[in-house]
Amino acid sequence: MNKVVIVTGGSRGIGAATSKRLAADGYAVCVNYRTRMDAADQVVAKIRADSGDAFAVRADVSVEADVIALFDAVEAEFGAVTHLVNNAGVLFTQARLVDMDLDRFNKVMAANVTSCFLCCREAIKRMKPGGAIVNVSSVAARTGSPFEYVDYATSKGAVDSMTKGLSLELAADGIRVNAVRPGFIYTDIHADGGDPGRVDRLSPQIPLGRGGTADEVANAIAWLLSDEASYVTGSFIDLAGGR
Ligand code: NAP
Repeated sequence: MNKVVIVTGGSRGIGAATSKRLAADGYAVCVNYRTRMDAADQVVAKIRADSGDAFAVRADVSVEADVIALFDAVEAEFGAVTHLVNNAGVLFTQARLVDMDLDRFNKVMAANVTSCFLCCREAIKRMKPGGAIVNVSSVAARTGSPFEYVDYATSKGAVDSMTKGLSLELAADGIRVNAVRPGFIYTDIHADGGDPGRVDRLSPQIPLGRGGTADEVANAIAWLLSDEASYVTGSFIDLAGGR
């Protein structure tokens, strides 16, 4: 089958690396973004320069109408989606839970959990046997991220539960659902948390002694989506240097 993938938040960081990797693997790639059209356009230009197939679609994946329009746009451009990477995610400035307001909590849940629900739902309406979904969770789902962002960790715990439950619902349909759990990856997200040097600061506590790269996460996502992982569903790959 022709492989058509949506990478949510495909414009920067892990999503950008994943978009480029999947295009190199022969997928037609929809690079989704919310605000940074310039970054999305750069990813698309790089893929096309390397003879791949990609286009960019703006959609806030926490908004139902945007998600439906996103899937419709992909279908019009490439045909029905066959694969999905739920990568879009946010975190906010490090704080203790007691100091977080409800607006912040709701924003994190919408961007990280509602988005995953909406995109999974629209994808599985269209997917055929052989389809696959990878959700980008976080080691935070295991650690809870105390004193930094318990809200974010909570949202990633929900992503893990959705991954497990949906994988069991879809197993008999031949659609696989898995997740990666990165940690300490060099991207812009740490600056959003108010700690741009976080990865280097924590490196001495990481068993492998360094932070990870977006390409290293993209490798795991590409494998989980691929037929090489045909007997893998409801599974999690941690990419956190041994933490
Ligand atoms: P990043 O560099 O900040 O990139 C985030 C991407 O998500 C951007 O492309 C952004 O698009 C997009 N995005 C955010 N909210 C969106 C929305 N509502 N709708 C559509 N797109 C949206 O972050 P990253 O580090 O690559 O993170 C990617 C994923 O990995 C996230 O789910 C994050 O939680 C997870 N993760 C990262 C790490 C790490 O160490 N970096 C560790 C564990 C888990 P715009 O720029 O256009 O807004």
